[in-house]
Amino acid sequence: MASKDSDAPSSREVKEMRRKVREGPKCGTPVPNKWMRQVTKKARDAQDKTLLKNNRIVSATIKVKFIHITDGTDGKITQDMRQKQIKELNDSFGSHNIKFSYNEEQVVEKKNANWFNMGYGSAAERQAKRKLHADPKKYLNFYTANLEDDLLGWATFPWELGGHPDMDGVVILYSTLPGGGAAPYDEGATGTHEIGHWLGLYHTFQDGCPPSEGDEVADTQPHRAPDYDCDSNTACGSGSSPVENFMNYTEDACMTKFTKGQAVRAKEMITIYRNQLFRSK
Ligand SMILES: [Zn+2]
Repeated sequence: MASKDSDAPSSREVKEMRRKVREGPKCGTPVPNKWMRQVTKKARDAQDKTLLKNNRIVSATIKVKFIHITDGTDGKITQDMRQKQIKELNDSFGSHNIKFSYNEEQVVEKKNANWFNMGYGSAAERQAKRKLHADPKKYLNFYTANLEDDLLGWATFPWELGGHPDMDGVVILYSTLPGGGAAPYDEGATGTHEIGHWLGLYHTFQDGCPPSEGDEVADTQPHRAPDYDCDSNTACGSGSSPVENFMNYTEDACMTKFTKGQAVRAKEMITIYRNQLFRSK
């Protein structure tokens, strides 16, 4: 019998989604290399300098430009989904005074079957972004598409903006937006996670246990591997895994917070690399 929930993902589809996500990386954002570690060390050292002492952003509203790539059939995003995604971002970052807004009249929808199925670092990604991006100094470019390699999303880091402005932004699997159908990853936490990277955050499990440099945030529990379940524990030492942290790999329902240290780092990164977002009208 047909019901109003007939479009809701079945338990088989949920199981399949879990399997796909767990077989490879969930997120395609690159792991920090030596150069990135040096860049972020410089940024952290700058905390003590006058620039950050006097001018660090304490609150910010980031303007989101939604750019939806479709194949003509799949990939279409409704106004309701956009509004719920923005609400999810504001629920996640809002307690740290980082807020998001968007203008429905500026939403872009582009039909291109080749771009729709883009891979990380692919020619399709480069072509789509070159053609469709809004000024990254004014906007967070929020692309949705169908992604290769079972990835849910990826992002560029803030220190990449200067060298590759056209590539700036987050790329999100379209069905992870709230109500998009990629359950248990369709409550909008993928958008939050990737924007965390876009603001300079690493995964909480980055490089595993100390003495690695970890995620360069002091108040996140180091852990040796991504967690996928709410009751998982991969913590180094006697702590427990930050399964509720947006920069882990758990399902959307588990993810509820950023730490104070992550918010401080994000604001430092905005101050250093993205402060023009707040100067433009
Ligand atoms: Zn990630």
